[in-house]
Amino acid sequence: MSNRVTETEVILIGAGIMSATLGTLLKELVPEWDITVFEKLDKAGEESSNVWNNAGTGHSALCELNYTSEKPDGSMDISKAIKVNEQFQVSKQFWAYLVNNNLIGDPQQFIMSLPHMSLVQGEDNVTFLKKRFKALSNNPLFEGMEYSDDPKTLVEWLPLIMQDRPSNEAIAATKMDTGTDVNFGALTRMLFEHLQSKNVEINYKHSVEDVKRTSDGKWEVRVHDMENDKLEFHTSKFVFIGGGGGSLHLLQKSSIPEGRHIGGFPVSGLFMVCNNPEIIEKHNAKVYGKAKVGAPPMSVPHLDTRYIDGKRSLLFGPYAGFSPKFLKTGSLFDLATSVKPNNVFTMLAAGAKQMPLTKYLITQVMQSKEKRMEELREFIPDAQSKDWDLVVAGQRVQVIKDTEVGGKGTLQFGTEVITSEDGSIAALLGASPGASTAVHVMLDVLNRCYPQYMEAWEPKIKEMVPSYGLSLMDHPELLKDIHKTTAKALGLTEKEGKQAVFN
Ligand SMILES: Cc1cc2nc3c(=O)[nH]c(=O)nc-3n(C[C@H](O)[C@H](O)[C@H](O)COP(=O)(O)OP(=O)(O)OC[C@H]3O[C@@H](n4cnc5c(N)ncnc54)[C@H](O)[C@@H]3O)c2cc1C
Repeated sequence: MSNRVTETEVILIGAGIMSATLGTLLKELVPEWDITVFEKLDKAGEESSNVWNNAGTGHSALCELNYTSEKPDGSMDISKAIKVNEQFQVSKQFWAYLVNNNLIGDPQQFIMSLPHMSLVQGEDNVTFLKKRFKALSNNPLFEGMEYSDDPKTLVEWLPLIMQDRPSNEAIAATKMDTGTDVNFGALTRMLFEHLQSKNVEINYKHSVEDVKRTSDGKWEVRVHDMENDKLEFHTSKFVFIGGGGGSLHLLQKSSIPEGRHIGGFPVSGLFMVCNNPEIIEKHNAKVYGKAKVGAPPMSVPHLDTRYIDGKRSLLFGPYAGFSPKFLKTGSLFDLATSVKPNNVFTMLAAGAKQMPLTKYLITQVMQSKEKRMEELREFIPDAQSKDWDLVVAGQRVQVIKDTEVGGKGTLQFGTEVITSEDGSIAALLGASPGASTAVHVMLDVLNRCYPQYMEAWEPKIKEMVPSYGLSLMDHPELLKDIHKTTAKALGLTEKEGKQAVFN
């Protein structure tokens, strides 16, 4: 083994959407900084960011029912929906900037307009949806949302789902035509191609094995060049751990106090993919239902039109499952080796609390294809097993930590950025809402790690994200303008809906 030793300003670990976004932001803000990337696979965007490994929903709470909940007084809490929507507007603005400035090519390769719908069955759920619709449609972020419980309208909106359905069933849907399907894998690759053209050094088949602080306050990463079986040592002032499911182990290796008492719980996913072109043609939307009682929020069932490899496809899922791997390409020992003396009590507490979830996930894994078809038939009553194949999606590693509200070992469903006190290292953990909010989350990383530059960087950030620092909900004119300009740049629909159709 021989050593290669380098020193750079920034090291990005992992070539997923998060590192791609952070690298692109940094190259716009300080083009002269050297950036080096290490990725253990042979291409960018192949783990969770790959088009087959996630659901490709541009999460903006237009259809995901888990972002709104009923308060004890019966009113609707839409605060999470507002937050996710605002964050997706940030992503769209940045992507529009990249397209308008020819930094990336054809946006249709990674983003397509697609109606986002919520669909519920049963009287109680219909009442919930109606309330959710009323609460959201008063907000400028959700302007254009349509509601219907009229079977005729629903047949128009959802021909495949309404076909052969009993007519006495209480059923309702909402629709937003301004939803999107995003191929985060394609976007990741486009961003890395751009970064390569800006002299960013991207090392594929390079696995980071250790991250250590040096005596002068920098970071040294030990990297295994897998192709040549060589060890390398690279030093930088700043390290971003964007290893997806691989981030927790690397954060633990850094030994920063902020990474203590944190664990990870892997949840795997499966989709059913339709192989019958006639069925695929009959559906044109992302349709989200309600999660089953006891099911985690990431297993909300949805029937989605997707644009994959230049073709329209139809996917249903995700079915949750359990595997101890933290990455799809990871090791069966990932969960066991993530338990350390500093997080063992947090993990044990989570284990005790999450027994029902673990049991649920294990029963999900054991399900036969026919059993899974039954879930699909709640969406497509006459779905035939021969028309659908199972595909394995990515792993999500949910963060486990001690919180004031939940106590020791609380499972978190969101995305968490962990930074050292001096801001010289940051790690991204968690999976949801994930890739859709990458730009917002990476701007947060910049804020926390480079506070000394933020004032100087602000004009450029505002050029890239005109709403930076503002709530769009409180600036409806700016919101309208942003809808218009991002739709034009990204080739998206700007169409606003009509009104509610109550039966
Ligand atoms: C089933 C499922 C459905 C989802 N649906 C959606 C959705 O609809 N919308 C949405 O916005 N988000 C969704 N997500 C979440 C989204 O996919 C992730 O948030 C996002 O892809 C994470 O990007 P990342 O860059 O952090 O990780 P990744 O894309 O996983 O990239 C991490 C990279 O780091 C590399 N790596 C890891 N360890 C090392 C190491 N030691 N050395 C070198 N390289 C390393 C990996 O090989 C990988 O390439 C979903 C996720 C799953 C699993």
